[in-house]
Amino acid sequence: MSETLPADTYSDDRLVEIAASFVDAHAAGTLPPIVQLGHPVLRMEGLEYTGQLGDALLVELLATMRAVMHDAPGVGLAAPQLGLPLRLAVLEDLYATDAVVAETRERLPLEYFAAVNPSYTAVGTRTASFFEGCLSFNGYQAVVTRPADITGTYTSPEGLVVERQFAGWQARIFQHETDHLGGMLYIDKAKTRSLCSNSEYHRWAEPGIERAAEILGF
Ligand code: ZN
Repeated sequence: MSETLPADTYSDDRLVEIAASFVDAHAAGTLPPIVQLGHPVLRMEGLEYTGQLGDALLVELLATMRAVMHDAPGVGLAAPQLGLPLRLAVLEDLYATDAVVAETRERLPLEYFAAVNPSYTAVGTRTASFFEGCLSFNGYQAVVTRPADITGTYTSPEGLVVERQFAGWQARIFQHETDHLGGMLYIDKAKTRSLCSNSEYHRWAEPGIERAAEILGF
């Protein structure tokens, strides 16, 4: 399904042009907008990053993506969320979290890093189910069951191949962003009966999902 739209219709020149427009906007004091559900790039199989932007522009683009992520605010941003079909993502989760929420969701601080061509595989069979949201699906949250432990593999912007173990919320963030690069959004994996407008989410804003599951019926 996600393969039906060809990201390879984007020439390298076009990718450079788009990335440079984001960096220029950032330098001029604005930020590129985050595209929303329905934008075709969100459904494309992202292009493997093979150096199309060149090292300098890549570094600048990642800095701009980090600024957009902070501004949103969010804990991750994938290049397709700016309309750029490249397998690039930035991740960072240093927000203060309530102690009970942090323990229930296994939400540990995640230092900033950029992932080029990330992939992941589940480790073991442990899963976790929590509400999550997406900056490209404004105003909603839904429960997604995901592997709780993964091995994540990616290349750093400097070209170093990295293999890391992630658990809990960090694993969720890594999966969510990597999924973006394959044209997948969390709603594709969500329990649809849990889909919740932010204006109603206060009813379910607690560490776990048990009460929401019982009352909403998912
Ligand atoms: Zn997202």
